[in-house]
Amino acid sequence: MATKPTDTKKTKKKPAKAKAPAMTDGRLIVVSNRVPDVKGGKVQAGGLAVALEEALLAAKEGVWFGWSGRVGSNSHSRPEVTEAGPITYITMDLSRKAYNEYYNGFANRALWPLFHYRIDLATFSREHQARYMEVNTMFGDELSHYLKPGDTVWVHDYHLIPLGQCLRRHGHDQTMGIFLHTPFPAAEVLIALPTHRELVQALAAYDLIGFQTENDKRAFADYIRYEARGTVTKDGRVSAFGRKFRIAVFPIGINPEQFEGPVANPKQMSWARDLKERSGDGSWLIGVDRLDYSKGIAQRFAAYERMLERYPAYRGWVSYFQITPPSRGEVAEYKQIRRDLEAQAGHINGRFADMDWVPLNYINKSYSRDRLALFYRACGVGLVTPLRDGMNLVAKEYVASQNPSDPGVLVLSRFAGAARELTDALIVNPYDVNSVADAIAQGIEMPLDERRRRWQSMMKVIRKNDLNRWRETYLAALAACGAERSAA
Ligand code: UDP
Repeated sequence: MATKPTDTKKTKKKPAKAKAPAMTDGRLIVVSNRVPDVKGGKVQAGGLAVALEEALLAAKEGVWFGWSGRVGSNSHSRPEVTEAGPITYITMDLSRKAYNEYYNGFANRALWPLFHYRIDLATFSREHQARYMEVNTMFGDELSHYLKPGDTVWVHDYHLIPLGQCLRRHGHDQTMGIFLHTPFPAAEVLIALPTHRELVQALAAYDLIGFQTENDKRAFADYIRYEARGTVTKDGRVSAFGRKFRIAVFPIGINPEQFEGPVANPKQMSWARDLKERSGDGSWLIGVDRLDYSKGIAQRFAAYERMLERYPAYRGWVSYFQITPPSRGEVAEYKQIRRDLEAQAGHINGRFADMDWVPLNYINKSYSRDRLALFYRACGVGLVTPLRDGMNLVAKEYVASQNPSDPGVLVLSRFAGAARELTDALIVNPYDVNSVADAIAQGIEMPLDERRRRWQSMMKVIRKNDLNRWRETYLAALAACGAERSAA
């Protein structure tokens, strides 16, 4: 079935050390749209990438497969194979056409807005969809060469939904799972996609579909029952499209130590103190979001403006830092939101700023996580008010960075996956500008006792449902699916 590939570029890197316990008997194959850069045998990105690397190290052998992040001119690039100890990284470049139509096109202009309940921003193009299928087929054909019996395949996110189906077509019956990092939309929203049935049928090729929240799982189950005429049991066993598979919820977490560490470093702390001293006895608010319409930044700016209108005493005293690294800048809707936010930030500052006070610091650059931890800690209120978000890790990072004896307050949208766990945040409806304005004021004024109580309760959940637990529970559930299938 699997033939050894011949036409590959091969490099060797220094191996990294394994840390976590083994969770699969055979090899683990992680597939994600973007494979992180590997330097000196270690992945270069934080958070999720490190957690997945640890999962690969914990398996006897691991493969990480996906897009290199490079855009080339060839329509079919050679895979590049990099060995780093027990992990083999296999990456492929995308052609300019594939990048425009698979990545910017179908993934980011059809599936992303649809999965975030923005049918109004979705563009359904048959050409883009064809390219999406083509890239998934190209990835599947290539990965197929590397798969061995006994491998476990773990696919990530909406870019690669059809990959499992392609591998099944090649005859692979290994245990395969997918985790959707985005929300899964209500059936009434999903059916706006002309090819919704093909998409959900492709998901049925996996043995386990993981969702961020019960809400997402329920939306999927509704589609199966009412659109696909399949069945779903209470414990998540699905029978549809001639296949049996499972659905379950695995809320993704953070490694809280990663945010407690930088703020405990005395050198960094003195930097944070300087930062804090500059604010005098004033209060700082912070928002950290990729420049994306799903994050509700425009509504948040409007709520901040309303707060300055309704609470004039805060003028000259409260400052809001909005850190917003640009993303997907080649997509028209992202160009538009960037222009809109610049105009809105200019309007708020033009209306309220004074010689010695800038009400809104709108910053279009990205910072390291260590730096963010310090910013989070220096700011008394964290604003996380997406219109829809799979999880929103910034919410958890803000809480984990706080000073336990004088913690800040999290204002959190009910439409972020994180709101299901962080119920002691000030939960708001981001569309309700007046009540978000009031919640910001409530956060600024909140007594220390209440801040401590809410923070302790949120930290308990963040520590319990950390990133390691997410990875371990997913892989354990996937292994159980495999065992059940072989026993049947
Ligand atoms: N982030 C970062 N630097 C920045 C802004 C954001 O490292 O300047 C990180 C942030 O710490 C978080 C991630 O980007 O871990 C954003 O994840 P989230 O789930 O909040 O939103 P997403 O961008 O995945 O939709």
